Amino acid sequence: MRRVALLGATGSIGRQAREIVAAQPDLELVAASSGSTPIDGLAPHTQVGGDLTELLERSQPDVVLNAVVGFAGLPATLWALERGIALALANKESLVAAGELALTARERGGGPILPVDSEHSAAFQCLEGREGETVSRLVLTASGGPFRGRTRAELEHVAVDDALAHPTWRMGPKITVDSATLANKGLELIEAHFLFGLPYEQVEVVVHPTSTVHALVWFRDGAALAHLGFPDMRVPISYALTYPERAATPVEPLDLAAGLTLEFEAPDLDTFSLLGLAREAGERGGTYPCAFNAANEVAVAAFLEGRLPFLGIAEVVERALSTVDGAPAADLDELVAADDEARRAAEAMLEPVA
Ligand code: NAD
Ligand code: MG
Repeated sequence: MRRVALLGATGSIGRQAREIVAAQPDLELVAASSGSTPIDGLAPHTQVGGDLTELLERSQPDVVLNAVVGFAGLPATLWALERGIALALANKESLVAAGELALTARERGGGPILPVDSEHSAAFQCLEGREGETVSRLVLTASGGPFRGRTRAELEHVAVDDALAHPTWRMGPKITVDSATLANKGLELIEAHFLFGLPYEQVEVVVHPTSTVHALVWFRDGAALAHLGFPDMRVPISYALTYPERAATPVEPLDLAAGLTLEFEAPDLDTFSLLGLAREAGERGGTYPCAFNAANEVAVAAFLEGRLPFLGIAEVVERALSTVDGAPAADLDELVAADDEARRAAEAMLEPVA
């Protein structure tokens, strides 16, 4: 029996995780949290808002599924890593922001990070622990979002609802906007760097509109392994919660004989500049990834509130990043200070842009 703490139980990942846990006799939901929705009775231990490490201390789970959105997920990520408790990680923002601190905590705790992000779950399965010199390249696929193929001029007046109409995935609003700007793939690039210990030049992003291939790994002998399937988050959620088993899910296999065409293209880095900005932040290291994430969270929230045009998101992030010092954080306090500095820089940019 594996005792699961589900953080962010009312969200898109959280609801799908509840379905997987309910259908799997070996999984037991011992704790659940939400940001603000009441969730009484959902699990023996529940919490709405507040410090999620209190809930984790109370419930002592075997695995933490972190499906909180944003930097708010960081304390729970570090709590699991420090204690060597398996971390099923959907909350990519915490790994992007904490970076080296998270890896140090993982080393101390000795537990696994089981990626829930579909591309990283796919890459994890293709890699099967074969990191290092046999791997020549990791390819993360991007659907391209609802604005694939559009020019900057065509994106000037897009509305919030247009950005929320994702072609292949149904997700929470923040990640859906990130998918429309390609900031999501930028966060995933940094996430992959930390998860798999690969230098940035070995991680490539390719646009693949149907999201059928989730990731692909090239090895030094010229072979590539790819992970295919319908875009359905229940597969990576189930894999992370039942690893190393592969439990059954209700997800159908692809019908190859019906005719399956796989299309790939290069991302348009001029129009979707947040992808390049993320790569740059990752390569600069230190707290630049943390600042990228923080500024992006502020800008996306402003866009969703109608205070910032779509193209303003990238503009705010770029300008905020140019003001921060990016020095590495020695501990959590310094990281929180770097996050805060970038948030304030981004807030200050909102007025002139809007
Ligand atoms: P969502 O907005 O649907 O749900 C977020 C959950 O977090 C909700 O339960 C909410 O109550 C809770 N929450 C929000 N703010 C909080 C706070 N400050 N403190 C505590 N709890 C808080 O988001 P989602 O789409 O489920 O995404 C969750 C995470 O998973 C994100 O990091 C996202 O990038 C990642 N992810 C999501 C998908 C997907 O298909 N939805 C795919 C890959 C990765
Ligand atoms: Mg993803």
